[in-house]
Amino acid sequence: MTVANRTIVQVLLPVPLHRHFDYLVPTPVDTSLPLVGKRVLVPFGKSGKKVGLVISQSDQTEIEPGKLKPIIEVIDDTPILNRDQLSLRKWISHYYLAPFGELIFSSLPPAIRQGDRLVLKQEIFWQVTNSGKNLDTTSLNKAKKQQAILDFLLRQDSPCSKSHLDEKFQNWRNPMNELFRKELVEVIKQDAAFNLIQTDHIDINLSPEQLAAFNQIQAGLESNKRFLLDGVTGSGKTEIYIKAIQYTIHQGKQALVLVPEIGLTPHFISRFRQRINAKIALMHSGLTDNERLQSWIQAKNGMAKVIIGTRSAVWTPMKTPGLFIVDEEHDPSYKQQEGIRYSAKDVAILRASEENAPLILGSATPSLESLHNVEKNKLTRITLNNRAEDAQQPTFKIIDIRGKKVHGALSHDLLQSMEKVLADKKQVLLFQNRRGYSPVQMCHDCGWIYNCERCDTPLTYHKRINRLLCHHCGVQHRQENTCHECHSNEIIPVGHGTERLYETLSEYFPDSNILRIDRDTTRRKGAMDEYNEQILSGEVDILVGTQMLAKGHHFPDVTLVGIIDADMGLYSNDFRAGERMAQLITQVSGRAGRASHPGTVVIQTHYPDHPLIKTLLENDYHHFANLQLAERKLINLPPFQYQILLRAEGYDTGQPLNFLKQAEKALRSASGKLELFGPYPSPIEKRRGRYRYQLLIQSTQRSDLQSHMHECLKNLEQIKIGNKVRWSLDVDPMDLF
Ligand code: ADP
Ligand code: ZN
Ligand code: ZN
Repeated sequence: MTVANRTIVQVLLPVPLHRHFDYLVPTPVDTSLPLVGKRVLVPFGKSGKKVGLVISQSDQTEIEPGKLKPIIEVIDDTPILNRDQLSLRKWISHYYLAPFGELIFSSLPPAIRQGDRLVLKQEIFWQVTNSGKNLDTTSLNKAKKQQAILDFLLRQDSPCSKSHLDEKFQNWRNPMNELFRKELVEVIKQDAAFNLIQTDHIDINLSPEQLAAFNQIQAGLESNKRFLLDGVTGSGKTEIYIKAIQYTIHQGKQALVLVPEIGLTPHFISRFRQRINAKIALMHSGLTDNERLQSWIQAKNGMAKVIIGTRSAVWTPMKTPGLFIVDEEHDPSYKQQEGIRYSAKDVAILRASEENAPLILGSATPSLESLHNVEKNKLTRITLNNRAEDAQQPTFKIIDIRGKKVHGALSHDLLQSMEKVLADKKQVLLFQNRRGYSPVQMCHDCGWIYNCERCDTPLTYHKRINRLLCHHCGVQHRQENTCHECHSNEIIPVGHGTERLYETLSEYFPDSNILRIDRDTTRRKGAMDEYNEQILSGEVDILVGTQMLAKGHHFPDVTLVGIIDADMGLYSNDFRAGERMAQLITQVSGRAGRASHPGTVVIQTHYPDHPLIKTLLENDYHHFANLQLAERKLINLPPFQYQILLRAEGYDTGQPLNFLKQAEKALRSASGKLELFGPYPSPIEKRRGRYRYQLLIQSTQRSDLQSHMHECLKNLEQIKIGNKVRWSLDVDPMDLF
């Protein structure tokens, strides 16, 4: 119905409902300016308030006019998202079968969600006055520090910020105040984004191979092509990103770079800062809410030319989008595993095409999805086969540990190789993808295993804190020495986590400096920075750690990499486990012999003849990937199929199962085009006290799967028991847990 002379707005709220809410615009609000894309504060529920976003305005509503509530306040002067940005999000919410409101709000930084205003922080900057410019600075030679600071400021093209000065000088405040008193420098306030750091510009000459790759990319930048930059570890992919970004900035446009984890690769950012003479904004969870807000504003208004961030940075709006880069595109951390289960890589691909910008996915171990997209001509592959600066690819050696005597988890052969390397004063890196001391605690007398009560999975022993931890729900137990079944006191640790390996190594190599890197040792802010320095300075002899070591590090003195247990990925019930294992092995191996020293990779396995291991080592990752792709095709798995996983969990087994059975009926009756598997228990059947089940929905046509699921969404929402269980849809699930 029409409400005469009044404006009605349709508002999205951060609630998991597939609908918007109508509100009345009170008369004092100037409705001659459009409200679409602005945030409003609205009454919600009995006495609550929520921040919402206006998506349309009209004089129509289906609500009785008397029941329509007025908005409390319009928060923004100008829209925070324009129509294109709104319609892109609409599209993505459709793709992920997610409520539009929930998606919009999860795409915004926390400060904006909470209703903070978009105010750009002002910062203080120093610059030289006219009399400072006319001064012969040698006249300050009695005050060396003042002279140095003035000389430095004179060399800059723009005023200098505090952080900039901090980088260059220690204790610069007092001499600066002196210069100020002498009226040689002055202070100005301006937007933080003008904080351009003029570094001593380093330029690198690309190798012929890099240059050929870059030329190919550059030609495609104009026509918004999508590339897979498929280059072995250490081949200089980052250099190519930097060149492409420089080119983009030169065209007056912005670039967005996604990385898996910023904290682990501090080095990556500093390389960008050294080489790119423009404002770089960071976007990741290590920043404060306000820092994230500042980066967001600077990206949106075009001040920041480069945005570097982790998964959620993919939503950062840009005024002039010119390039999207996803580094280490195979990394599973791009997929969000809760709330709206989006893949930042896929969102970047969608954004690039909607915003008419080119895209580069980069990896030494591309995902099978991307390799498949190369075959379908959806991505153009560019390869780099050689390492920068003539570094050699490592050689591989398999150690068959069947029936062999091992020290802890270390075979005699591996220990011998380590001794040689250590005698040469080089470094060893050992990879074991398990943190803690031992992943299983077992009764030696009866075989009882100490499980988490809430998850039914074994508890991991952490020796330093002397606690048993559940890696699924975080629960902690005191270490116990008595079997719950037979009351024996013979509880033994089974398996070797990084903590236990560290212990074995300390006994075997008492004179070596050993460093453990995993989630437990890197929790402290700045820890990884410190470790990096210790490794690079040669202080460390042996490095032992989890997949954290596989991420883009550059350790020139590591000449031996040991993979303690390659068997885990071979017989898993997750069909992606093999791919994941091959990526990890290849990435970790890539840390060996990065500089001028040739490297060796030693792999311990009980299955030396397993075809996956053999192909990976005798040939390379790409042979392995082709083999896997052929297998996936044969048995109808992604990327040859599209999947959606419907999950349900509850405090008893009946309700979630019952829900999924009804869901299955609803899905089955509507169409014959989809394949349904289940419902069956999730691989981790019980987690945090909830029983978990799932139904897998699959089709060879994405459009069938999508349209059919949209038809059925209402039916799923109407299943009564659905209110009693937690259920969710996972489009393109990355792991089936
Ligand atoms: P990737 O990202 O492919 O692993 P990087 O870009 O990190 O490789 O390069 C590996 C190392 O080689 C880095 O230390 C980098 O500075 C150096 N490097 C890359 N390209 C060149 C080049 N053209 N000239 C000199 N050094 C280079
Ligand atoms: Zn027992
Ligand atoms: Zn648990």
